[in-house]
Amino acid sequence: MTTNESLFERAQAVIPGGVNSPVRAFGSVGGRPYFVERGEGPFVYDVEGKRYIDFVQSYGPSILGHAHPAILAAINDAASRGTSYGAPTENEVRIAEEMCDRVAGMEMVRLVSSGTEAAMSAIRLARGATGRDKIVKFAGNYHGHTDSLLVAGGSGVAQQGLKGSEGVTAGAIADTIVAPYNVVPELDESIAVVCVEPVAANMGLVAPAPGFLEGLRAECDRVGALLLFDEVITGFRLCRGGSAAWFGVQPDVWCFGKVIGGGLPMGAFGASREAMGNLAPLGGVYQAGTLSGNPLATAAGLAALSHLTTDAYEQLTATASRLQEGMLDAFAAAGVSAVLPRVGPLLGLFFTDIEPHDFDSAKAAADNGVYPRFFHGMLDRGIALAPGAYEALFPSLAHGTAEIDATIEAVAEVASTL
Ligand SMILES: *Cc1c(COP(=O)(O)O)cnc(C)c1O
Repeated sequence: MTTNESLFERAQAVIPGGVNSPVRAFGSVGGRPYFVERGEGPFVYDVEGKRYIDFVQSYGPSILGHAHPAILAAINDAASRGTSYGAPTENEVRIAEEMCDRVAGMEMVRLVSSGTEAAMSAIRLARGATGRDKIVKFAGNYHGHTDSLLVAGGSGVAQQGLKGSEGVTAGAIADTIVAPYNVVPELDESIAVVCVEPVAANMGLVAPAPGFLEGLRAECDRVGALLLFDEVITGFRLCRGGSAAWFGVQPDVWCFGKVIGGGLPMGAFGASREAMGNLAPLGGVYQAGTLSGNPLATAAGLAALSHLTTDAYEQLTATASRLQEGMLDAFAAAGVSAVLPRVGPLLGLFFTDIEPHDFDSAKAAADNGVYPRFFHGMLDRGIALAPGAYEALFPSLAHGTAEIDATIEAVAEVASTL
């Protein structure tokens, strides 16, 4: 019989750590991963037939829930006509129009195949557009695994306790300046771009302090640097228009991923028409991709976006809010110190008394040893959370009150054992 155990054994023989992305390996929570056989709405089923209410949801992409019929239909329809052409398609135009329509100030986008690629390309564009070399990133923000952006990275980099610099040359990070999140750094005219997660969602969830994003905007303007919002998580999850609409602060460059591909590999970066004019074939900044704008991915992304209405965001926020309140009550009843920072539909969890505001405080809370016990208690009860304390919770539109209430009940049980 195929079991999680036997598959993990086989996987470890042929795949480093048995996984194709480090956080999946359960390294920081102990034990071994469950291997997914299929997903449906809010659930995943492992190869042993066990069902889990899934709050991983691919770390964000399956915002409609797993195997959503509209997404499957769109993919099937696209696949029946071929899977990749190397020539432009109508759906690439449609999804670019849809993104620019939703995100005020973004006039053009270029599609890529991952969030990593989006950030990497956006940095190149910013350097090309400004003629400057240096970039600023914030400790605990994650922008994918590009050399220059790995340093002090959140998500799996943080969870593994890595600095993010092995295998990366000193030269590759010589132009990267790392600043603490939620403090506006003083810039100078050597800075091409300031990259920020407008809501930090890769060190648990850390909201921007009042004035932080506004301060970045003003400081970038003062020295002529570009401001880049990495919206790979927040994009099309926070609200229709993204973080600029939510916070009222306009960046110059945007990165997207996760939700935009509807569960297929896709990312995007965008900016004003003028800035994007630096990109080949219009300008001298080269960027390309064999599978960019893939017909299956654009079909899935369009299907996802068509369901992401204002009502959908209200529902997602209500779901996150119900989960937040129920979990807070359950932890309080058990005398467990926990905070659940929430920004609209985005929700995080830290076992501490005070909401972390930067990487140091997030790290102290994430690494205090409580999360692994909570994680396994929940997993035993059929609730799948991310196997690492640095990730956000990802309720989907398929999570109904029944699943949320069952989750809260499990939290109450597990809390009493912490
Ligand atoms: C996930 C993520 C990325 C990287 O996206 P991949 O598709 O995993 O390459 C970049 N930035 C942020 C904010 C992310 O959450």
